[in-house]
Amino acid sequence: MALKDEKSPGILIKERNTDKDQNISTVKNYINGSWIPSIGTETVDIINPANKKIIGKCPLGTSQDADGGVKAAKEAFKTWREVPVIDKVQILFRLKTLLEKNFEDLSRICTQENGKILAESRGDVRRGIQMIEMACGMPTLLMGKSLEDIASGIDCHAIKRPLGVFAAVTPFNFPSMVPFWFWPFAVAAGNTFVLKPSERVPLTQIMIFKLIEEAGMPKGVLNLVNGSKEIVNALCTHPDIKGISFVGSTPVARYVYETASSHGKRVQALGGAKNFMVVLPDANMELTVKTVFESCTGCAGQRCLAGSVVLCAGETYDILKEKLTKKAKEINIGDGLDPGSGIGPLISEDAKKRVKALIQSAIDEGAEILIDGRKDVDHLNGYFLKPTVLGKIKPDMRIAKEEVFGPVICLAKTKDFDESVKWLNSSEYANTASLFTSSGAAARQFSYEVDPSMIGINIGVPAPMAFFSFGGTKASFFGDTKAHGQACIDFYTDTKVTIKRWIKDSGIW
Ligand code: NAD
Repeated sequence: MALKDEKSPGILIKERNTDKDQNISTVKNYINGSWIPSIGTETVDIINPANKKIIGKCPLGTSQDADGGVKAAKEAFKTWREVPVIDKVQILFRLKTLLEKNFEDLSRICTQENGKILAESRGDVRRGIQMIEMACGMPTLLMGKSLEDIASGIDCHAIKRPLGVFAAVTPFNFPSMVPFWFWPFAVAAGNTFVLKPSERVPLTQIMIFKLIEEAGMPKGVLNLVNGSKEIVNALCTHPDIKGISFVGSTPVARYVYETASSHGKRVQALGGAKNFMVVLPDANMELTVKTVFESCTGCAGQRCLAGSVVLCAGETYDILKEKLTKKAKEINIGDGLDPGSGIGPLISEDAKKRVKALIQSAIDEGAEILIDGRKDVDHLNGYFLKPTVLGKIKPDMRIAKEEVFGPVICLAKTKDFDESVKWLNSSEYANTASLFTSSGAAARQFSYEVDPSMIGINIGVPAPMAFFSFGGTKASFFGDTKAHGQACIDFYTDTKVTIKRWIKDSGIW
């Protein structure tokens, strides 16, 4: 198995065993158009979670690294903002072509560092490319408004202007897509940018930044700094950063929101989730079973839109119990590069331990273990868990409240629609919720009454596409302006209003 070298997309690096980790490359930062080593001396291993082999090292960058990225971006802003938007998007058109050309290689790298199966990595890369496509429409998206004669002889123009340097901090679970939620829009609107990807999966972004460089992005417009907390703290408090986008767990999202906003920045911080799926007796059961299973176990459950608790109204409980249990037994787990694998590994040993402990807590609190995905996995070399199906879930169990982020399906029996909606609205999180039904009236009532902001009707992973905005509410989102779609244009711009009166040669108009 091999990975493309960061130095040249054409060269391959071999994976190595953890006990022989010499000659493993440490990823570099991309600052002001150059690939430079981090100032940080500590590194973390980048591990292929399917076989525990080290595939690179990520430096734990320092505040000086972050400052270098911000300085370059601040300098580049002076000239970048003056480049006509139609010229700015030409770089994105070129990048789109390069991303398509390198689509398979990017998908493979994504699988190797994250573990998700190749089909899921292709989705991760595809969704990222769609953000570029949307940002190519910036000449239209950025248009302001004008009104003639707001008073006699006076006209008013409102234009959207870039603000300066923005930053994003992103999670491990979508190494390609999530960074694309932000920088293409910020940069096409005339801002400059600093990206800090997850230190667990920086390799996909290294390759993407090589392509960004090849596409002709001027130096300093887009900078990449690798690391963890120290970089995040530096970005949240840096006086030259205008706004920050964060995606990750709720405690860090809350921290980033509070820290960066108290330092005067615009912030959008997308946090964790606990997603409920309600099944009504009139649902098409074949579609429901397939969709619920895919939602709860796809990407090994490591999606912020992953279904977690299935609220089965009335008699649907027994049907789902039987059919989901059967599906969980049948699916193959394995290395995501193997076409026979239906589910890949979790990201790390810690993640596996945490999910196993949550399953145990549910059993201890009275849940019924229908399929125990913790069995028969210890002989496998990666961080694998098979799908687990738990029954008799109650609202006060830990597993019914906390984000699992693993391939676990929790089945709960509810009386009806009303009890299900009351339960899901009692969650501290509100990212997404799905309803399975053939009733339009029930679907409408569901969308109207539930707290989450991203709703699926007979859909298990209702991820808004690039041209709609993405984000939840309650503990799943901190801020007011969501990611991508029309909303992000407001996040990345200031509206400047000019009121004009011109005096005619012959006197007042
Ligand atoms: P994480 O919070 O551990 O890390 C996210 C980012 O924050 C990383 O870049 C990391 O380096 C940085 N970070 C981690 N700890 C930090 C600290 N103490 N101080 C400052 N920075 C810190 O999240 P993760 O494990 O990478 O990703 C999984 C989480 O992300 C899940 O909770 C998932 O629901 C959430 N997520 C949410 C969305 C959404 O749209 N709401 C999308 C994807 C993932």
